[in-house]
Amino acid sequence: MKITKAEFITSVASKDKFYKTEKPIIAVVGKSNVGKSSLINMLARNKKLAKTSVTPGRTRLVNYFDFGSFVLADLPGYGFAKVSKEEKKKWADLLESFLQTEKLNLLICLVDSRHDPTEDDIMMINYLYHYSIPFVIVATKVDKLSKTKIKPQMMTITRKLKVGIDDITPTSAESGFGREEVLSLIEKSL
Ligand code: GDP
Repeated sequence: MKITKAEFITSVASKDKFYKTEKPIIAVVGKSNVGKSSLINMLARNKKLAKTSVTPGRTRLVNYFDFGSFVLADLPGYGFAKVSKEEKKKWADLLESFLQTEKLNLLICLVDSRHDPTEDDIMMINYLYHYSIPFVIVATKVDKLSKTKIKPQMMTITRKLKVGIDDITPTSAESGFGREEVLSLIEKSL
């Protein structure tokens, strides 16, 4: 699939303001600092589209982007340690109401390829199974792994998340590796 357009639409901070569209919605989720903004920029081939944060945990909003044939929703990052319980609950509520009310074509769940999935990652996948929300796993930052480590690490991650090896796609926003694969997963869901 070719991306001919990638423009910011709006950011929303509360569930009564979710952006309404006739277009299919693809959402992206993952823990803070996993590389969500970088992946969105890689898909758009625009390094400035989504802000990549030096300070993790800045994304407290749902950010919407118009990708032409679909709308991409960038969901608030979870599992960020350095915020208050109250703040965490606010993000979790926003995320959960989004997943409950918006009809998604696909949810792209990001995990860091260098690490085992966190408790939050596992909880997220269980939640998606429970509510039958269609999802794929995308592993970020594979450029930080040696070539021989990629496959075994993908196997470890999928085993821990209780998904199949075909359900994970390794990517690197640094090199653009995996871009076509992610786009073809999106295309299949449209
Ligand atoms: P977000 O908080 O999930 O949106 O994460 P960001 O996209 O802001 O990325 C967090 C940090 O990881 C930044 O310093 C990025 O430069 C870095 N990063 C993101 N993707 C990659 C990648 O594919 N390879 C490498 N080496 N670094 C990455």
